[in-house]
Amino acid sequence: MRPPSPMQQTPGSDLLQIRGLDLDFGTPRGRVHALRNVSLGVPAGEVVGIVGESGSGKSTLAYTVMGLLAENAEVTGGEILFEGRDLLRMPAAARRGLLGNRLSMIFQDPMTALNPVRTIEGQMIDAQHYAPGSRREKRERAVEMLRRVGIPDPQSRIGGYPHEFSGGMRQRICIAMALLVKPALLVADEPTTALDATLEVQIVNLLKELQKEIGCSILFVSHHLGTVAELCDRVAVMYAGEVVEYGTVRNIFQNPGHPYTRALLECDPGRIRQKTKLLPTIPGEVPSLIGARHGCIFRQRCRHAFARCASERPAEHAIGAAQAARCHLLDQARVMPA
Ligand code: SF4
Repeated sequence: MRPPSPMQQTPGSDLLQIRGLDLDFGTPRGRVHALRNVSLGVPAGEVVGIVGESGSGKSTLAYTVMGLLAENAEVTGGEILFEGRDLLRMPAAARRGLLGNRLSMIFQDPMTALNPVRTIEGQMIDAQHYAPGSRREKRERAVEMLRRVGIPDPQSRIGGYPHEFSGGMRQRICIAMALLVKPALLVADEPTTALDATLEVQIVNLLKELQKEIGCSILFVSHHLGTVAELCDRVAVMYAGEVVEYGTVRNIFQNPGHPYTRALLECDPGRIRQKTKLLPTIPGEVPSLIGARHGCIFRQRCRHAFARCASERPAEHAIGAAQAARCHLLDQARVMPA
């Protein structure tokens, strides 16, 4: 048996290990292969970011870990090991028992994540379903958590409804609810996308602080590279349903091994130093995920593509101990062209 690759194993103990995950959506136009052979690890106490363009499968992966997929989704292969147990083969009741307990989630849109016709108090008490203590104790814990995330006058505001709070405040409430149960793993699906830049910085700092305090791991989905660099310890780069590169933040941002990672970084407005009227983009579009795939998934948009890329799917190549990428250029030990 081959030893686990850097995409599958990270130093220390992995709280979450996703191995060879395949997932399809059945649609009237055919089967959409939304995730293909996805492998990555989330070590205990670390933050792992998932980046990529829209349609790369980032959110699908997050929802698969949480077991919150649409009815037309079908996992066709692989495993998701959480604390050593495969979530995909666990009885439904046991898996449900992990949600809002060992596993919790922050969604992209705080308005739709909260129930608009119930008070924050009721929702935060319900969120502690598995926690010990009376209703009064749970309310006190909720007030304390609201204070912790910066809600002013939480003692009285806890009785309010979601529409009485601003977007930033609602996302703070969602973070408070998700972390109230002190989960082992928090899955955050683009939690700052609906917020303006100032609020985004505040929310990222808050998440960082609370993650350290609680000691949980975070799987952080984002298309914002600056936020990922700020918050995460490791990064998985996804393209068209595949993880094309995985490594520490430092390696991915300073020594990217995959042409797609390099192209993403070149398009990041935060890294562009020259004055320009037009922001760069990666030419072309994400390919259709319907039907069989051959060769490298990125070849239509890759400026380094060569004959082999059309016929053979690149294997995973380690770049040092904690970084790996899927590209034939690494196999050939060629220096990546600029
Ligand atoms: Fe580009 Fe070929 Fe590498 Fe794919 S395998 S990223 S097409 S060079």
